[in-house]
Amino acid sequence: MADAPTTASTPEPVALPGYAHVYSGKVRDLYAPLDPETGSPRDDRLLLVASDRLSAFDFILQTPVPDKGAVLTQLSLWWFEQLEDLLPHHVVSTDVPAEVAGRAVLVRRLEMLPVECVARAYLTGGGLREYRTDGRVSGLLLPEGLVDGSRLPEPVFTPSTKAPQGAHDEPMPFEDVVAAVGERTAERARDLTTRILARGNEIAAERGILIADTKVEFGLDDDAPDGLVLADEVLTPDSSRFWPADQWEPGHTQPSFDKEFVREWLLSPASGWDKASGEAPPPMPADVLERTRAKYVEAYERLTGRTFTG
Ligand code: ATP
Ligand code: MG
Repeated sequence: MADAPTTASTPEPVALPGYAHVYSGKVRDLYAPLDPETGSPRDDRLLLVASDRLSAFDFILQTPVPDKGAVLTQLSLWWFEQLEDLLPHHVVSTDVPAEVAGRAVLVRRLEMLPVECVARAYLTGGGLREYRTDGRVSGLLLPEGLVDGSRLPEPVFTPSTKAPQGAHDEPMPFEDVVAAVGERTAERARDLTTRILARGNEIAAERGILIADTKVEFGLDDDAPDGLVLADEVLTPDSSRFWPADQWEPGHTQPSFDKEFVREWLLSPASGWDKASGEAPPPMPADVLERTRAKYVEAYERLTGRTFTG
């Protein structure tokens, strides 16, 4: 695996005694625990450390968002539990080194499905852009007359490719998923992805939140009931769009509790950034940074009903 793109101010992953660094994605640093007997890295476990890095438009922003890694990790843990009756998850333990406490989990190291499993309950973003060209999203025909923020008749599976670092994920028609992983696994991934979003929305509705769309990643496990284990992160503000239900109004961009806020700032004249330039985005000003942090914390607190303590 190639190293993630970094900016000058993206810190190198910390050295953790007893662990070997194996990979850094845009947000997470992955380590293999060292076997105390042999000193060599174990191949069945990973320490998944969520950093405070924020990625937008395929760039890692220069300014880390304080507490973001802890919010993502703790929210995922909460959701894994809520979803336990739907499917197993990859978490083994939250007993992790003190340096990364609260933002790391020890997980089963799994072979990952080479597909970004996206489900949409409402239409916006990249899905809306696709729909506007030919009425389809990831090859799936949707009803006519939908606008930004429209609720879909039922959640749909709109997978995308897992693009290499720095590249854009591309929409993937279901037939391509079948070709990549086989019909049985493709159908199970589709069913589980849409059920995760539907269940997420049932729970979030009680908290006044709509989950417009989400992305999940599955690992393969022959012993799991459906052959799939929920891995990575789930129903977080990085992987999902969260909208305040009382302000939902199709026809324009919705206010949100997720990183859409940062995307909007980047696209606005205030940031001074030109997306088409291909240049790295500027650092976030203090007020944008603080509001972004507050949105992540608010998403966690509203969904879980807990107070975020770091
Ligand atoms: P990429 O890794 O393609 O850069 P990303 O930037 O979203 O995507 P991160 O979320 O930063 O990645 O890193 C998490 C990485 O760990 C992903 O590549 C994900 O597929 C992988 N991963 C998550 N859970 C597991 C697991 N249980 N076993 C193996 N790999 C996992
Ligand atoms: Mg990820």
